[in-house]
Amino acid sequence: MKCPSCAAAELIHDTRDVPYTYKGESTIIPAVTGDFCPACGEAVFSESARISAVMLEFIKKVDCCNISPGKNTWSDFFQSKDKVTDDFMIERKDVISDEGRFNFEDWTQPENESK
Ligand SMILES: [Zn+2]
Repeated sequence: MKCPSCAAAELIHDTRDVPYTYKGESTIIPAVTGDFCPACGEAVFSESARISAVMLEFIKKVDCCNISPGKNTWSDFFQSKDKVTDDFMIERKDVISDEGRFNFEDWTQPENESK
């Protein structure tokens, strides 16, 4: 069978580890049986279902991994969260100690003394 891509050479039926690259990340699909062109590197796989399943898994993995380092959102999030927490705690502390001290002393002392 001549190569369907370049028609320059006969395809060689073989079982090989096929490298696959997606978005700059590469993997090896092991023991793939197919017809390989020695001239242009074209390959016609005879088990395309398994190969596309492996490729899909790899694509998912690459897309998943690229999301976290790609964004700088986490460090931004932590920075703004620290700021918010500091402001929030300062405000909260003042409100609680002011209200709590005033109300408790005002209400418990007269009641205890009068009884
Ligand atoms: Zn070829």
